[in-house]
Amino acid sequence: MPFHSSMSFWSKIIDGFRKSDEKIDSVESHRVSSEVQSATSESVRIAYVDVEVGANDRKIHDIGALRDDDSTFHQSGKKGLMEFLDGIDYLCGHNIVKHDARYIFGKDGECPWILVDTLYMSPILFPERPYHCLVKDYKLVSEQMNNPVADCRLTRELLQDEIDAWNALPEGRRLVFATLLRGKPEFDGFLRVVKAQYAAEGATDLIKKHYEGKICGNADIDDLIEHYPCELAYALALIGTAHDSVTPGWVLHTYPQVDNIVRQLCLTRCIQGCAYCDSRLDIHLNLKRFFGYD
Ligand SMILES: [Zn+2]
Repeated sequence: MPFHSSMSFWSKIIDGFRKSDEKIDSVESHRVSSEVQSATSESVRIAYVDVEVGANDRKIHDIGALRDDDSTFHQSGKKGLMEFLDGIDYLCGHNIVKHDARYIFGKDGECPWILVDTLYMSPILFPERPYHCLVKDYKLVSEQMNNPVADCRLTRELLQDEIDAWNALPEGRRLVFATLLRGKPEFDGFLRVVKAQYAAEGATDLIKKHYEGKICGNADIDDLIEHYPCELAYALALIGTAHDSVTPGWVLHTYPQVDNIVRQLCLTRCIQGCAYCDSRLDIHLNLKRFFGYD
């Protein structure tokens, strides 16, 4: 899927605004990796799975699975998979919620484990271009073609990096994302793995506080939370970056409102006027700022 052409336009404009914020942002997003704890501790039992489905027959051709003790499962069908996974708490995969799980458990089948999807969290945690080195658009970047066990190892690596990135986010942003994404199947498993905290009072005030100076102060946050919580989370991930960023094509395809929400928050001047719009969206100020004209 190609990138939406208009995205690069506004990202350039926002990037122009960002230059002056860069110093603050880079401090804020500094990774405290030394303090990061491994979430794959003994108390949390995670296994990884990858299902290869035929492009034409849409049937399972190959399944790979991996447990934390490094034992592996590699078969052309599901037989023996449930026994292999017995005793785990979480089943993790890249695009597992809307793809692999449907093939393993059937369309309406019940899954006995909590699903953790590395695909959907990735643009939240790695919004800057280039993205995480293991992810290209919605796919994992694998050196071994069609090897589901190799893809399980990549998924394990990606999940650990996502956990590290989550723990390195400022606490306020963790609260914002967790509160917006709680209970959504694509995100909920990850939030449980990282033992995310949620804001009982909702995300509106948190967003206004933690994105002050980056978005219009009069934007209707409540309405966005009610109708587009996931899209708002992706939009805020983009807005919160210090460097060049762009929404991956698959996100725009799955959540087409992300583009509009960024425009609404960052590029639409409010009638009442606010500190953000009066400085960032003032045509005369910016004529001077970007082109040097009075
Ligand atoms: Zn405004």
